[in-house]
Amino acid sequence: MKIGLTGGIASGKSTVADYLKELGATVLDADKIAHRLMEPQQKAWRKVVEYFGEEILLPNKQINRNKLGEIIFNNPSAKEKLDQLTHPIIIKEIKERLKELEEKKKIIIVEVPLLIEAGMIELFEEIWLVYLPKELQIERLMARNDFDYQTAVTRVESQMPLAEKRAFADLIINNNVTEKELKKELKQLWNKINLNN
Ligand code: ATP
Repeated sequence: MKIGLTGGIASGKSTVADYLKELGATVLDADKIAHRLMEPQQKAWRKVVEYFGEEILLPNKQINRNKLGEIIFNNPSAKEKLDQLTHPIIIKEIKERLKELEEKKKIIIVEVPLLIEAGMIELFEEIWLVYLPKELQIERLMARNDFDYQTAVTRVESQMPLAEKRAFADLIINNNVTEKELKKELKQLWNKINLNN
């Protein structure tokens, strides 16, 4: 079974993924895969440099993320273009990794922050959403990143609201609880899916 684990900024995806790993789950991290593909000479890097030009690079040939961030922040069509260039490459890589792993593992979990926005629902048999109320999401983001309230609100509000993502989820992991309670829930969930698969 292929499970897509998603959420929003600071909703607790990594906390959930790390604990599931501790329990023995096979977990892929789409962000790590994406980062690797943006390394010099990798497939996504080539597409980005082809489109945005070499001025997007640092002297060491790494993509200058601040510069790229600035460009797409000020220009929604550039953001769209960047997604169009990189998403298919990332999705293809995830599909390949899933195919390899499926031969060996019954359950594979893939942590994908933008799973719903990037149209990746069809890749998975189940979508799990790490959910918490917006105010708590803002609070956890402020604490983790040392952001002031307004910065945290702006980051949260630049994303698709978690409340809207609920409609796409097969399972909601409620993170409006302590870490201890979250772990207890996850342990039960993990035992249950292992019994059923
Ligand atoms: P991002 O995608 O922004 O990297 P994320 O969804 O992976 O975030 P985490 O980094 O796992 O989120 O969690 C966000 C912050 O909230 C972290 O500082 C984490 O330690 C904290 N946190 C997560 N779950 C809980 C919880 N149940 N109780 C208290 N703090 C929590």
